[in-house]
Amino acid sequence: MVGWEIIRGLGVTFKHFAETYFDDLKWLGKPRYSQERAAARSSLDSRGAFTVQYPEEKLVIPEEFRYIPFLIYDEGPDGEKIDRCTSCGICAKVCPPQCIWIVRTNDPVTGRPIPEPAEFYIDVDICMNCGLCAEFCPFDAIKMDHDFEIATTNRMATDIFDKQRLSQPASYYASIRPTNFAAEEKARREKEAAKAAAAAAKRPAPPAPGKGPVAG
Ligand code: SF4
Ligand code: SF4
Repeated sequence: MVGWEIIRGLGVTFKHFAETYFDDLKWLGKPRYSQERAAARSSLDSRGAFTVQYPEEKLVIPEEFRYIPFLIYDEGPDGEKIDRCTSCGICAKVCPPQCIWIVRTNDPVTGRPIPEPAEFYIDVDICMNCGLCAEFCPFDAIKMDHDFEIATTNRMATDIFDKQRLSQPASYYASIRPTNFAAEEKARREKEAAKAAAAAAKRPAPPAPGKGPVAG
């Protein structure tokens, strides 16, 4: 029938419109703004249109969301910070807008490079959140953060993040990207096990009992 498809299309729009209000009924008697409500309404089960009342409510951030990169450090047995970054400079080379710069550490006596950065800066006004630095880092030392609330009233003074501002413990990375963290840890353990097995295979077998060198 002529015009039937137009009526069907309008029906879809009307259904979406009506569902917006039916979905609201589920939240009657509950607090007007809540994180529970924001999470439910931004999930795949939500129906109709919805508005998130930021900053009282915030959308649930998916694991692969990326904003400004951060540097990971591991914690040693005495709680000391061990930088994963070796200041190899790969991230700075691949960064499209060239907003990373690194100062390497040198041994004060020999002058030879030490594999950790003395300084590490990212200009967050230039960073375009592409994630290439994190993808190319061979040491899983730089990852993309979820924290997007970095607005400031004095960007000239605050928007060049230094090493201290960028550094986060590995536990923070595990908390915001649990799937990625678990996969990387598994790969790391497998690599270490393979290395240990290869080293063990290269070691000469101990002499058989009774065939050792005879003292003269
Ligand atoms: S973050 Fe990674 S790629 Fe960048 S300098 Fe450090 S180790 Fe190299
Ligand atoms: S996310 Fe992209 S633009 Fe930002 S520092 Fe990393 S490589 Fe550079």
